[in-house]
Amino acid sequence: MGPGPSNVHPRVLNALSQPLVGHLDPAFLELMAEIQELLRHTFQTANRLTIPISGTGSAGMEACLVNLVEPGDKVIVGVNGVFGTRMVDIVGRCGATAIALETEWGRIIEPERVVEALRQTPDAKAVCLVHAETSTGAWQPLEEVGAALAGTDTLFIVDAVTSLAGAPLYVDDWHIDACYSGTQKCLSCPPGLSPVTFSDKALQVMRGRSSAVQSWYLDLSMIEKYWGDERAYHHTAPVSMTFALAEALRLVREEGLEARWQRHQRNHEALKEGLAAMRLPIAAQEGRQLWMLNSVSIPDGIDDADVRSFLLKNYELEIGGGLGPLKGKVWRIGLMGESSTPANILLVLTALERVLRHRGYDCRAGAGVAAAAAVLER
Ligand SMILES: *Cc1c(COP(=O)(O)O)cnc(C)c1O
Repeated sequence: MGPGPSNVHPRVLNALSQPLVGHLDPAFLELMAEIQELLRHTFQTANRLTIPISGTGSAGMEACLVNLVEPGDKVIVGVNGVFGTRMVDIVGRCGATAIALETEWGRIIEPERVVEALRQTPDAKAVCLVHAETSTGAWQPLEEVGAALAGTDTLFIVDAVTSLAGAPLYVDDWHIDACYSGTQKCLSCPPGLSPVTFSDKALQVMRGRSSAVQSWYLDLSMIEKYWGDERAYHHTAPVSMTFALAEALRLVREEGLEARWQRHQRNHEALKEGLAAMRLPIAAQEGRQLWMLNSVSIPDGIDDADVRSFLLKNYELEIGGGLGPLKGKVWRIGLMGESSTPANILLVLTALERVLRHRGYDCRAGAGVAAAAAVLER
């Protein structure tokens, strides 16, 4: 129940143990076509270039930026946690200038600020936002910025590593030009692939580059030839991970995207009520709190690491600690994909109550579980 990797369905583990085939085997080519269809559905897009990049979520982030950003470009980046900070780093490595819109960790970047930044820098190459900031639990709204960018030359690049398949995301309707995700958050697959999707507008920008992409491995103009009709070898596809991702995406489709979002919502609400009954508030901005990542303020006098190791040792339960300015101040409880279950909510509330009471924290026995159960049974 940390910030990922989430638990993995047995069918996905089974897919990982299947015998290998060659990455140009006809059966594998069929699987590649199926994966692209399933990813388009999951991203809610008709984009032709919708594929998994070999590597974790950060590889998808890097792939989007290195293919679209050139030296000398200006890129507006929302920075309210670890992952916006990482994007600024990569933009700089592309030889471009990042215009960072910084906000306190745990809060969203107000859409009006992004629109205002765009007014001041109308020639910005791209605007980058993190949909679900896993380091803080803040849920960034995207629609307004997407609408403002539609019809301009500025691209909209979105990090959906934690949101994909756990919260509503409409790549086409929200005018997102490049979107990347990861497999080990709400897709509930092991880490190792990074689904990305590029709009026609993004493809045009990529085709019009004046310099070669500085990363050979992530150069999409070559990778798309393997995923397209040419089937040209670029690098060996991670065959077993591709089996696993296909199975994970089939599970998403079987559950239904909307039903899956609703499950994440209900379970978040139950956890939040349970925590509130234990006087443990969610730390992220009220009204903008993620369903799949709950950052919880640590009470005064309670030691972060001590509690987390108690949970691990006695309950085989992992939750995350805070990062950067939130280190020691919050716990991060993930309710991602297969891990988002009523049983996990009752377990984490019970285990937290046990350790907090042992450490002298004043909370009524059973209060958290009762409050969460009331939501689950509603
Ligand atoms: C996890 C995560 C990443 C990075 O993914 P890795 O798989 O760790 O490389 C990027 N952005 C967000 C929002 C994430 O949660």
